Amino acid sequence: MTVPRDSIRRHVIATYPLARNRGQHVGERMTDRADLVVVGAGTVGGWASVFAAEAGAGHVVVLERGLAGDGASSRAAGIVRAQGGTPATVALGRWSIDFYRGQAETYGADSGFRELGYLILAATEEDERLGRERVAMQHGAGLADVRWLDAAEAVATVGTLSPHGHRGGSFRDGDGHIDPPRNVRAYSMAMQAAGIELRERTPFAGLRTSDDGARVTGVETSGGVIETERVLLTGGPSLRSVGSLAGLRIPAGAARHTVAVLEPHEAFAVERMPMVFDLGAGLYWRLEEGGLLFGWSDPDETPGQAREIDWAAYERYRERLAGYVPVTLDLGLRKIWAATIDYTPDHLPILGPAIRPDGSVIDGVTIASAAGHGMMWGPGVARVAADLAVHGATSLIDASDYGLDRFDEQGRSRLAPDSVALPFPVVAD
Ligand SMILES: Cc1cc2nc3c(=O)[nH]c(=O)nc-3n(C[C@H](O)[C@H](O)[C@H](O)COP(=O)(O)OP(=O)(O)OC[C@H]3O[C@@H](n4cnc5c(N)ncnc54)[C@H](O)[C@@H]3O)c2cc1C
Repeated sequence: MTVPRDSIRRHVIATYPLARNRGQHVGERMTDRADLVVVGAGTVGGWASVFAAEAGAGHVVVLERGLAGDGASSRAAGIVRAQGGTPATVALGRWSIDFYRGQAETYGADSGFRELGYLILAATEEDERLGRERVAMQHGAGLADVRWLDAAEAVATVGTLSPHGHRGGSFRDGDGHIDPPRNVRAYSMAMQAAGIELRERTPFAGLRTSDDGARVTGVETSGGVIETERVLLTGGPSLRSVGSLAGLRIPAGAARHTVAVLEPHEAFAVERMPMVFDLGAGLYWRLEEGGLLFGWSDPDETPGQAREIDWAAYERYRERLAGYVPVTLDLGLRKIWAATIDYTPDHLPILGPAIRPDGSVIDGVTIASAAGHGMMWGPGVARVAADLAVHGATSLIDASDYGLDRFDEQGRSRLAPDSVALPFPVVAD
């Protein structure tokens, strides 16, 4: 096998602390046995590997087919909110915000969390009714500081918001955003400090199991087999294909998601201005570098991996944004990118054991997806995934609802969807 020079250099960097500890030479191939193998070095796999190592998982190897952060995690808009649509997603959001707040002290590097506040707009009378019900549910889930703002209060809170086209919305001061590339840096540093062996450019290719298929015994990779009794499968927008390599049917979707940043304007040259979500249209915006960042997903397009810009959609969402934030009308475009986002049929995370299409469980294998909410729930999802992989149980949420067994053969979930989610296309099975 020809190994690219850059890959050798990264392997040396990634394995150096461990190699030194074991008296091996720098760059020498580690023994191919691990106590836990994590597939995917995105925010879910990255933080989960750190939490698992802290929980005593032993020698943890992370397999990444490209480079750490190559998937959705480095390309996100970074919106983080505890305003979830169910008690469990409220809990994941709160845990993640607490994590981001305390992260620098624990790990020596932050993810750039900035508390700006978040207003989730209601455009219609029905949106308002559902929004007020959601706030009551959130209060019941312990999120006491979320409140309803009428249209005038919303405009007074978000100075650039038009008084027209909405009926106010739910608001929470403590929501905010992270800087996604900084988060990739932070978990990469934490992985290195925890002695985790990151193998970049090493795709996962399949599972090895005991003769009766009941228990995992190893993983196949492009660089050979690693013996292990514990595996955590992540993959974000590629989780469906990671699952099929493992003989699983995971109804995880992938779709284009686009983020644009407009030129700076004095209206945005402020320390703090709340972020806004036009929930019905799947359009959100926040401050970024003195300008405005906005993002959207178009539910009418064909699902699948996509990185090209849909300029017609850009014009439509830009126009809608100008309706809510008139000052953006004549602002130039500073940058724009499209990337593939992950989602699930009910917009809820997937957390639980590997279950084959015939219903049999592969002991030792755990699945984790943040369902397109990896910035806001990522650390919480990673915590649950690590707990399940190492201890078989977690106290953060009742994870028994979030396994693969909630989906039928067509990928339909028996759970009601999370109501605070982007309107993604239907997952086709
Ligand atoms: C444009 C955009 C904007 C977004 N904005 C937000 C936001 O504002 N707030 C929010 O909460 N979420 C947002 N998201 C969603 C969020 O980024 C994801 O939910 C999150 O990054 C998923 O993390 P992950 O670790 O599961 O997946 P990823 O970051 O995609 O990581 C999975 C990794 O697995 C690797 N992999 C795949 N197959 C294999 C294989 N066979 N072997 C080894 N490795 C493999 C991939 O290369 C990848 O690095 C956004 C996403 C996009 C694309």
